Amino acid sequence: MKDKKVEKLIVAEKARQKKVVNLIASENYVSADVLKALGSESVNKYAEGYAGARYYGGNEVVDQIENLCKERALKLFGLDPKVWAVNVQSLSGSPANVAVYTAVLPLGAKIMGMSLDQGGHLTHGHKASVTGKWWKQIPYGLDKDSELLDYDELLKIAMLEKPDMLVMGYTAYSKIIDWHKMKMVADSAGAHVHVDMSHIAGLVAGGVYPSPFEYADTVMTTTHKTLRGPRSALIFSRIDDRKLYEKIDKAVFPGMQGGPHMNQIAAVAVALGEAAKPDFKKYAKQVVKNTKVLANTLAKKGWRIVSKGTDTHLFLVDTWMNGKGISGKAASDLLEQNGIIVNKNTIPFDVRSPMDPSGIRLGTAAETTRGKKEKDMIKTAEKIDKLLRS
Ligand SMILES: *Cc1c(COP(=O)(O)O)cnc(C)c1O
Repeated sequence: MKDKKVEKLIVAEKARQKKVVNLIASENYVSADVLKALGSESVNKYAEGYAGARYYGGNEVVDQIENLCKERALKLFGLDPKVWAVNVQSLSGSPANVAVYTAVLPLGAKIMGMSLDQGGHLTHGHKASVTGKWWKQIPYGLDKDSELLDYDELLKIAMLEKPDMLVMGYTAYSKIIDWHKMKMVADSAGAHVHVDMSHIAGLVAGGVYPSPFEYADTVMTTTHKTLRGPRSALIFSRIDDRKLYEKIDKAVFPGMQGGPHMNQIAAVAVALGEAAKPDFKKYAKQVVKNTKVLANTLAKKGWRIVSKGTDTHLFLVDTWMNGKGISGKAASDLLEQNGIIVNKNTIPFDVRSPMDPSGIRLGTAAETTRGKKEKDMIKTAEKIDKLLRS
């Protein structure tokens, strides 16, 4: 690069990524091909509108990129293009959720979503997000004893509050969600079913987590977590008389944004192609194996794993343990000083503050991409245990 200042920083960030053990549950490492597509000339193209109906000329090639991306997105999740539509233009997960809500809900409608401190996302109706200002969150959480979803309790809330939409799919829930039971909860209120599978999309694609599509009206996913692509989002919608796909397309453009990032869409297409390969199935399996070993080893050392374990790529550790341990912030700072990157996280029914909560969140999607196996997880768990005890 001619710009030595920026180049130096890019090189430094690359070196940092190489040096650390990365247990951030929402991160991953993209392939060289994904990076190449992101850095390609398609970044130069303005393509407001959708393939075949753009506002500027010169789109004959980027139309093909966008169509290929859509085709691969549907195929990866086994969806019939006559039954499901997909929008690939949303810039990231948060605006994608907002686009779905604006397409489906009138302002002020009720969104039943998990509270942030129990494992939901900001965009599931938290007050700090526009989703909590433009719509009203009906919060739900986990059962206090089991720290699992309590479907009977959810049913009670849905019948009492009659939400217009039920949002499911979380940022810190380590167990399998029973999509069928969640659909029954939504049906009891006549609510729209929106699945936010941002965290688990790669596990669904890899066949190690049940697919939610059968039960959903709309499905949103980010592409940069377990799916291992560039930062972006996909919005799937069921094709029926409601023509939600038309409303969603309009909500994304011109509703929320202008020109799509065509380089990003090209890179998503590459990542979706990679995720369709047999190797990705192996990867997804290894992610879950690694996470279980990491969690089990920490549990054996005496640390409390929230929800008593994991079926996914992540889990929460209660490091505070009612004052017998170490706070989440102190834990994540200490680990970072020793080359292990995690994030502090509230645990369900946390008595401490979000800025210094009772736990940390650990995930293995990134380290598994780097080829780490069970024996590495045992070593990492032992190191974490030793540090947190010091
Ligand atoms: C990460 C995430 C998002 C938001 O994605 P951004 O790309 O960071 O905006 C939304 N929902 C869930 C469940 C997530 O995990």
